[in-house]
Amino acid sequence: MATESETVAEARRQMEICNACRYCEGYCAVFPAMTMRRAFTEGDLTHLANLCHGCKGCYHACQYAPPHPFGINIPVTFAELRNETYAQHAWPAPMGALFARNGTVVSLLAALGVALVLVLTVALQDPAVLWSAQRGAGAFFRVIPHWLMISLGVLTFGYALFAMAMGARSYWRATGSPAGAFAPAPTAEAAVDIVTMRNLGGGGHGCNDLDEGFSMRRRWLHQALFGGFMLCFAATCTGTIYHYVFGWKSPHAFFSLPVQFGTWGGVLMMIGAAGLAHVKIITDPVPVARKLAGGEFAMLALLFLIAATGLLLLAVRHTGAMGVMLAIHLGLVFAFFVVMPYSKMVHGVYRGLALLRNAKEKRGAAPAASAA
Ligand code: SF4
Ligand code: SF4
Repeated sequence: MATESETVAEARRQMEICNACRYCEGYCAVFPAMTMRRAFTEGDLTHLANLCHGCKGCYHACQYAPPHPFGINIPVTFAELRNETYAQHAWPAPMGALFARNGTVVSLLAALGVALVLVLTVALQDPAVLWSAQRGAGAFFRVIPHWLMISLGVLTFGYALFAMAMGARSYWRATGSPAGAFAPAPTAEAAVDIVTMRNLGGGGHGCNDLDEGFSMRRRWLHQALFGGFMLCFAATCTGTIYHYVFGWKSPHAFFSLPVQFGTWGGVLMMIGAAGLAHVKIITDPVPVARKLAGGEFAMLALLFLIAATGLLLLAVRHTGAMGVMLAIHLGLVFAFFVVMPYSKMVHGVYRGLALLRNAKEKRGAAPAASAA
């Protein structure tokens, strides 16, 4: 059996104190799930850590928080354990090491992605076409060939989906989660929790986003980022339908569905990414895992840059700057896909699975099945 990490041992110590205290039972999904257990295997602790939404409510309520000698700081311990989870279940396994240097990796891959698409574009393209204004249907593909754009997109996005699916499978098994993963009622409950981000609402009054005061700021900013991301995905899907079903080639008119989805999605992503970075900067630092901050800021910066370059591309698409802006935007998007399985973005996958397991446990599935 693999040796437990110090973080797992620390999470167990804190959960055993919490399970005796139980003051925070009504705060979030973690504490009711905790009370279903008398002992905590590594699988249990991994599940509880991923169920935690980092609202910091328990830290501000806790009489045993630092400087008390018990040093209870669940948000920090669970954030560090979540990061270990991401590394442990990364596919392929050696890539898990990237989580230790997440900020550097995200920045380097973003730069490499932009450089690669720029170099490919310049190498394949007549400079006269690259730097001159392009108008009308198929203008983007006169600068970057359609086959190249599609090949890079399918390869990088397909890789990200496959790697995250493998990680999810490994996580589900390692946490000893109940069989019959997709029973209708718990799946529906978990889906509602994910879409509404109910657990970021602190039971209705909000979370301790900045200090001991309650606010909904983190929840709304997460909603903006998630909603913006989904709108941009809808823009890609509708653009694909326009191209392959109707034969309508981009760039499309401003009031077409792909451009409207992309524009509002980009605006929401910029608001969400910038707002969440601002909250991270001004929040009380004690219940925050500072050693993870580099990777989180790098991912927010990448999401902000993807949205900003997408909107800039819309602004300059009929000018000679379109070619370079298209290459920069696509380079960032492809880099994002490659780095996605090894970044903070995977928290959505594991938290979704933790919510699903929690919904099943509430209906009587045995938590004791956890793997050690
Ligand atoms: S966080 Fe503190 S107050 Fe809350 S249950 Fe744990 S020990 Fe008790
Ligand atoms: S930080 Fe919030 S979500 Fe996490 S265990 Fe504490 S109260 Fe629950």
